[in-house]
Amino acid sequence: VRNTSNLVSFRRRDEKPPQNEDGVSSNKACKAYNSVLELVGNTPLVKLNRLPLEHGVKCEVYAKCEFINPGGSIKDRIALAMMQDARKDGVVHDQTEFVEVTSGNTGIGIALNATLMGNKCIIVTQDKNSSEKVNTMRLLGAEFDNEINPRAHYENTGEEIVAALGSVDVLVLGAGSGGTLSGVGSKLKEVNPDCKLVAAEPDGSVMINKDGNPHPFLVEGIGGSEAPIILDKSLVDHVEVVTDKESFLMARELSKKEGLLCGGSSGAAVCAAFKAAKSLNIGHGKRVVVILPDGIRNYMSKFVSDQWMEAHRFLEPPQHTMKWWTKP
Ligand code: PMP
Repeated sequence: VRNTSNLVSFRRRDEKPPQNEDGVSSNKACKAYNSVLELVGNTPLVKLNRLPLEHGVKCEVYAKCEFINPGGSIKDRIALAMMQDARKDGVVHDQTEFVEVTSGNTGIGIALNATLMGNKCIIVTQDKNSSEKVNTMRLLGAEFDNEINPRAHYENTGEEIVAALGSVDVLVLGAGSGGTLSGVGSKLKEVNPDCKLVAAEPDGSVMINKDGNPHPFLVEGIGGSEAPIILDKSLVDHVEVVTDKESFLMARELSKKEGLLCGGSSGAAVCAAFKAAKSLNIGHGKRVVVILPDGIRNYMSKFVSDQWMEAHRFLEPPQHTMKWWTKP
């Protein structure tokens, strides 16, 4: 729960953030902001307390809560970085209209920035990534954002993790564009060359796991049939395949048991972290970071709904004892 008092706290640049007994920084000071865009990034890292124990995992697992971003996902970061770069380079002016082809969250990030800057934007979405989509994005000059995407995660998301936790033993995350994996992965490996990167691959995706059996899957934002250009596969040390059912059940558990109201790709990443903790023998004292890219609100009519889960056979329907009306 955030401190909502209107006090403004200043800390000198050279002053270290306060630390708790684990040596983890714990600055809860409240600040005042000039615009919602200043709230992009600096998301909290939250330790999982119940789930690792229940899943027989002994390492420390920290969730990087990207759903706290104002647009609801990790994609606010790259949208902001792209728009800032474009303004700086003079590419964007007041009449500029933005066109973005997206699987969802990037579009929200772009729309948020555009509306605050007074620009129009057109968002084109499709249910799943396709080669048509990739080709259209290329046509629209999307290679422009290729380099900014991982760079934003290297300079910000990764840097924030290092500032809060120092050296990290294992990073676990899914890959969509691969920007988070490439950016955060390189930063954490730079700080600790022994840091292991575990990729969460949806069952049916052959983006990283080339031996997989390609088929449709329902988890959104990660996986696909081809590896995007910005995905640096050389950073991946280990892949854990996670089914839709496992991902959605874990996302529901994260809400119920840890209070982390996150989406399906977050469930996939935490599930992969627990699987990797067992298969790679990541034990007591090891520090694992899992990225939770977006929140529950994108999926209210999907895995959040019991009926949807039952319809997809991810949950058993409740066994009601029928009380038949009997004639008095
Ligand atoms: N999860 C969700 C819900 C997403 O929208 C995305 C972005 N497609 C990701 C994970 C993966 O992030 P990245 O594109 O940086 O690989």
